Amino acid sequence: MKQEHAKRMRHVDFRSDTVTQPTEGMRSAMVHAPLGDDVFGDDPTVNAFQEKVAHLLGFEAALFMPTGTQSNLCALMAHCSRGEEYLVGQFAHTYRWEAGGAAVLGSIQPQPLEQEFDGAIALDRIEAAIKPDDAHFAMTRLLCLENTWNGKVLPQDYVEKATTLAHQRGLATHLDGARLWNAAVHMAKHPALSPIDAARQLTKGFDSVSVCFSKGLGAPAGSVLCGNKALIARAHRVRKMAGGAMRQTGMFAAAADYALDHHLNRLQEDHQRAQRLAHGLMRLPGLKIDPPQTNMVFIELEEPLRVRQDELLQGLKAQGILTTGTYRLRCVTHLGLSDQDIDHALAVFQTVFA
Ligand SMILES: *Cc1c(COP(=O)(O)O)cnc(C)c1O
Repeated sequence: MKQEHAKRMRHVDFRSDTVTQPTEGMRSAMVHAPLGDDVFGDDPTVNAFQEKVAHLLGFEAALFMPTGTQSNLCALMAHCSRGEEYLVGQFAHTYRWEAGGAAVLGSIQPQPLEQEFDGAIALDRIEAAIKPDDAHFAMTRLLCLENTWNGKVLPQDYVEKATTLAHQRGLATHLDGARLWNAAVHMAKHPALSPIDAARQLTKGFDSVSVCFSKGLGAPAGSVLCGNKALIARAHRVRKMAGGAMRQTGMFAAAADYALDHHLNRLQEDHQRAQRLAHGLMRLPGLKIDPPQTNMVFIELEEPLRVRQDELLQGLKAQGILTTGTYRLRCVTHLGLSDQDIDHALAVFQTVFA
């Protein structure tokens, strides 16, 4: 009886855009990709994909990575040597969500800085954090930004000013663009701009950028780090050191390539579904919803719901609705969800939060 109930229950997984299954077309692309040993540089699918992404985003070179975390680590270690430091947002993935890898594995000192609500680090804060060249201090080498930030596109004029300031002060710049594709699709709503052109604009001013294919684009694994040839050569050595040099990894590159060709424009659907979810949730009392731009809806519980957050999460879960709530509740839309899923989830939210 219980099992039958579970079978009939509709599951809507909002935990992340990483929970997707590879589509049929993607599986087929993976199976038929020509392969070789990528440690010897022999995988034609990987080589072609690296060149393609570098070219699309306007960089000299690119390197295929198993994960975004490793891609960011390789970038940080390619930019900074032991005893040097990077400036980074207090809540940025490259500081808070990567298990301290830069410090542990790279002996690089993070200098986390307070961020504005939109994810920006105020320019005067950046300026004040750059250490003088003095034996007391770590050498400040790098500024890291992240786009999208909590599902929002960083203001482009801010990015320009921040990267210009960094370069004027002799710092390099790295962009954690795990969800850059979502930012690009949002930005491309302007007339006469393709998502690829938008993505290239969003990476302007950065010496390196890491993009993920296993998030909204729906590949099972894979990120790409872009930079100039010298930086990518250094990152290549770090990737080996980190154990990320794989063999016939063209199977994954083929999935990522398929995702780029077939799943980029459809991110717009995820963004529309996030809007649909947000507008429905706004009608429920006791919830504060930040209007989404891309595929993330953040839900703040007001008193007296706030103290019941864990219980409410469990209540949703018991009815097949999965979300996460480390700081605020977060619902992420992705290619595994339909409009019907959103409407069903809204109905469940209504009963659980009633
Ligand atoms: C997911 C994510 C990464 C990398 O994640 P992996 O799980 O290691 O692929 C990096 N930065 C941001 C902002 C992310 O969301």
